[in-house]
Amino acid sequence: MNRRSRRCKILATLGPASNDEASVEKLWRAGADVFRINMSHADPEAMRETVAMIRAVEARVGQPIGILVDLQGPKLRVGTFAGGGVDLLVGQTFSFDSDPTPGDAERVCLPHPEILSALAPGHKLLIDDGKLRLHVVEATGDRALTKVDVGGRISNRKGVSLPDTEIAVAAMTPKDRVDLEAAVETGVDWIALSFVQRATDVLEVKRLTGDRAFVLAKIEKPQAIARLDEIMAVADALMVARGDLGVEMPLEKVPGLQKRITREARRLGRPVVVATQMLESMISAPAPTRAEVSDVATAVFEGGDAIMLSAESASGKYPFEAVTMMNRIAEEVEQDNIYRAIIAAQRAAPERTGADAVAVAARDMTETLDLKAIVAWTSSGATALRVARERPRAPILALTPNRDTARRLTAVWGVESVITKDAKDVDDMANRACKFAVRQGLAAVGDRILIIAGVPFGTPGATNMLRLAFIGEDGLRAE
Ligand code: PGA
Ligand code: MN
Repeated sequence: MNRRSRRCKILATLGPASNDEASVEKLWRAGADVFRINMSHADPEAMRETVAMIRAVEARVGQPIGILVDLQGPKLRVGTFAGGGVDLLVGQTFSFDSDPTPGDAERVCLPHPEILSALAPGHKLLIDDGKLRLHVVEATGDRALTKVDVGGRISNRKGVSLPDTEIAVAAMTPKDRVDLEAAVETGVDWIALSFVQRATDVLEVKRLTGDRAFVLAKIEKPQAIARLDEIMAVADALMVARGDLGVEMPLEKVPGLQKRITREARRLGRPVVVATQMLESMISAPAPTRAEVSDVATAVFEGGDAIMLSAESASGKYPFEAVTMMNRIAEEVEQDNIYRAIIAAQRAAPERTGADAVAVAARDMTETLDLKAIVAWTSSGATALRVARERPRAPILALTPNRDTARRLTAVWGVESVITKDAKDVDDMANRACKFAVRQGLAAVGDRILIIAGVPFGTPGATNMLRLAFIGEDGLRAE
């Protein structure tokens, strides 16, 4: 078994550099807790093969592994050019229209009629991750005349971002719907939705997903920032998707937004992932820059639930080194005295529920008594999430009869899980908690742990019990 001593989780995107069973196992052993399948580069068949591969590794290592399927979302692209592309110069005009004939130095097709009709004078168009910038001077519904502010080469099917335009299109494209259904049928744990603009976008995915997976909203558009509260209220988790966020918003706003989103997510008890360019230079170099190390450390100091690798693990030259590096940074930060102080300072008041009262008490008791673990019996995972929200000093061990819950919790700060059937009675509850705490390497004979549960067992949302237990010679409860 590979015990993690780290609370912050690592998400690794799979791709050509890592999409085989040996690599998945190696990445997991290096520290990856959750694997991300990016549907921008996959179809349902490829996704199913990857899932089967991860599940094979999971069975071999005997620990739950999380799988997140990231839906491409309404990524807008220009059409094609007669010569493959053209160079745009600052100050020149250039048109986008609905004519599918290949483009030239004057115009290109924007094959999204709903967008052409939503464009208005003054709106910015950012092409190819913001490398080119244009603004609309005249819009007639099926054609937009623009002026180039930052020039460069525009070529076939390059991405278009519209930070100023409220897009009436559905959050999900036909491909997203097919991918979503295939993903939940295949039994993935998390569905991520790209380019969320409003709460209804998330609700639509949740409606289609039901309780088959958790839904994560990627925050990468100014429209989502403007409606952060309503989106956070309905999403199961959030991602600070700094790649597109940094295209659609001024780059210098991204760090503040990251802080705002991570804090607010923690206040609500929603897992939050910090993503994109975390160790970017490791795509081609075996060691990161000092600034990248500092960026990863910042996300860990902020108490984010997970940090993510994209191209570093999917298509870079050093996927294992990148995971190893993240793991080392997170471990080091979490041992720093300042880390506990920052985490404690950002703690939010509990909600007035039994579950939160128990979670606060659990955190408090582990600190007063130096308890080695908080063992939470949980069926939906809700109890473990509320305990994680307290960011306790002791690790959280979730015991659940539900395999899906165990897998979903892989993305949550400080939680590890064991799948085991519900406890029969209070003795069984305490005995097995001690046994699994020892088996997972969290506690040893002579240590004390804290157990929380809801009795009667199997009643969801009824966390109402807190039990201190001393681990005896036989590894079972001794008092
Ligand atoms: P992507 O999302 O990698 O799917 O674009 C993450 C981001 O935009 O940061
Ligand atoms: Mn994105």
